[in-house]
Amino acid sequence: MKTAEGRFFSIAADRESLVNCELCPHRCVLKPGSFGQCRVRQGADGGIALPFYGSISSISIDPIEKKPLYHFRPGSSIFSVGFLGCNLHCPFCQNWEISQQTDMAFRSIGPAELIRLAADSGTRAIAYTYSEPLVHIEYLLEAMTEAKKQGLANVLVSNGCILEAPAREILALTDAANIDLKSFSAQTYSQKLGGDLSAVCRFLELAHEMAVHLEVTTLIVTGLNDNKGEIEGIIEFLSTLSPDIPWHLSAYHPAYKWREAATKPGLLQEIKAMVRGRLSYVYVGNIWGEENVTSCTHCGKALVERQGYVISKPNLEFNETTHTYFCAHCGEPAHIYY
Ligand code: SF4
Ligand code: SF4
Repeated sequence: MKTAEGRFFSIAADRESLVNCELCPHRCVLKPGSFGQCRVRQGADGGIALPFYGSISSISIDPIEKKPLYHFRPGSSIFSVGFLGCNLHCPFCQNWEISQQTDMAFRSIGPAELIRLAADSGTRAIAYTYSEPLVHIEYLLEAMTEAKKQGLANVLVSNGCILEAPAREILALTDAANIDLKSFSAQTYSQKLGGDLSAVCRFLELAHEMAVHLEVTTLIVTGLNDNKGEIEGIIEFLSTLSPDIPWHLSAYHPAYKWREAATKPGLLQEIKAMVRGRLSYVYVGNIWGEENVTSCTHCGKALVERQGYVISKPNLEFNETTHTYFCAHCGEPAHIYY
């Protein structure tokens, strides 16, 4: 596949051979041939080259709950596609083989072909996921535009760490997103993850403002973000943004360079107790035997019950005309979207 040209950069008048990438807060200064911190965007004469444009590391059809999205088309399947590279460097990354190196096997698939594959799969949605999709934003913008034409929903699973102008472009094409809020310490983001807390918070605010269906995930990592002060900061931020944003608490297991003990299951339950009354929907994940229920906020009946990826919908009804979900018991609209 041809090496595509990147957008989101500037050239300093007095240093014409250098390009400033303006996609994410790293603002890498790229010489011709050199790669940015994401390992996939490369300096070129007068611009940015994208040698990994269309390099797809994996494709699979997953339950939508695996993204995780619990309030968007529950019980459906989603065509899921992964790339290479990431602009963060989390030491506990569970997908480090594809996020922190670029020499894994991949298939070259253009955006139009990808959407054809997704449409042919029989699913009604496509997720950009596994490593960090946003460092391939030019590809995403093309694929998402085509997906819309084909009637597929676009789902973004991301670290949300990009600057506002590109964020607005991508969110305008996004139907649903699960965004990581990995910590509420600016120092942890910058020094341990190689990211920027304020950019992620702004991304979340924009997603909410732009009416993207938004869910948030926090991996509770032993020795990194498992202190109550930081957790409290996340709860405060999310509940101020909207108490109806579903928050996924995910248990960490040792991976990549982080060798601390796995998250104690009891801790996730303690955090759930801290949240009570401030966020309507909190779920725990990555724990054997987990059960997560979404109840009607009006009458309290169970709308969706989940045991791992086994889903039942005892009181959830769907109106085929309006494409809205409601509680079969009391008739109130459910905070679940299509
Ligand atoms: S997207 Fe990549 S090249 Fe651009 S600023 Fe971020 S890490 Fe650097
Ligand atoms: S943002 Fe996600 S993919 Fe990137 S390094 Fe962190 S955990 Fe891995």
